[in-house]
Amino acid sequence: MTTPTPQPGIMEIALYQGGQSHLAGVRDVLKLSSNENPAGPPPAAIAALQDAATRMHLYPSTDHAPLRAAIGEVWGVDPDRVICGVGSDEVLQFVTQAFAGPGDEIIHTEHGFSMYPILTHMCGATPVRVPERERMVDVDAILDAVTERTRVVFLTNPGNPTGTRIPDADIVRLADGLPTSVILVIDGAYTEYSDGSDGGLSLAETRDNVLMTRTFSKIYGLGGLRVGWGYGARAMIDVMTRIRQPFNLSLPALAAAEAAVRDVAWRDRCATVNAEQRARLTGALRQLGLACDESHANFVLARAASVDEADAAEAALNADGIIVRRVVGYGFPTGIRITVGDAAQTGRVIAALTRWREEAVA
Ligand SMILES: *Cc1c(COP(=O)(O)O)cnc(C)c1O
Repeated sequence: MTTPTPQPGIMEIALYQGGQSHLAGVRDVLKLSSNENPAGPPPAAIAALQDAATRMHLYPSTDHAPLRAAIGEVWGVDPDRVICGVGSDEVLQFVTQAFAGPGDEIIHTEHGFSMYPILTHMCGATPVRVPERERMVDVDAILDAVTERTRVVFLTNPGNPTGTRIPDADIVRLADGLPTSVILVIDGAYTEYSDGSDGGLSLAETRDNVLMTRTFSKIYGLGGLRVGWGYGARAMIDVMTRIRQPFNLSLPALAAAEAAVRDVAWRDRCATVNAEQRARLTGALRQLGLACDESHANFVLARAASVDEADAAEAALNADGIIVRRVVGYGFPTGIRITVGDAAQTGRVIAALTRWREEAVA
């Protein structure tokens, strides 16, 4: 008897593991496992969403023109070269689906986002994992891995879960070294937290094979609404638009995202608070004997000396109602990724870990 057969690659997909959000028996849970904005959604976006509620019997715009115009104004980009998706995850899916298939290769880096191999298998292509150097993307290793089958290269800058970033000059070198038929995707989910980097915007503006992606899920506080965008050459955006469903973004989501992107002052305030608390958390972790690199994002990756020590640190945080993210699947068995919270939340993390160290000595 024959049974329905899935397309090539689909059964290779390991299901995405999201951040935990509950702790048994704990009420005052502090979720620092998914890099969400501690300030919540911007008030302007809440108001726009409430206003949109009375219009949700209407189909949304298919071309997202008002949102793309707002993105164009705020970021100084051509709205005709912007494509919006259900989270930036969907924009990443447009690229893989439109430009790669069985027999093709898609490159991601050792500690790169777990969605990259998932999206690669979804289109039947083969993921190629390239080593990083001391938790930093290695441009030469990526260039060495390129073959005539390579279609897409995924780069996260700043990286998740490392928080490290490579200089814009190195990204230019990567773009220069790639064949012009290979698409370089610069995933800028954390760009707004990364002072002094344009997140690949100028490259996406000037190269026909560079796509920059951004999200409303992190600094804009709209993870639950699912909106992201990509920016690249018109020809590439045109190809991707053909496989985008006409009503992929809901009317309330479009309204809230437009209000959020226009609230530049709110975004800048969030970035400032994050930078302060990130420096404070990094300093405290190091003092407590947990190694961490300088982060350019809204989380810090703490590295314990052993798996046992990481387990104990996580248990101590959990006991205090704090949920963090273990990143074993990203190549860090001793790593704990902690989202940077506000001042009070950061204080709570530091206090829990300080008590844990003190109890170990006593
Ligand atoms: C959070 C994150 C995203 C954003 O995903 P959305 O689909 O926009 O919510 C993209 N890339 C990386 C590396 C991330 O960490």
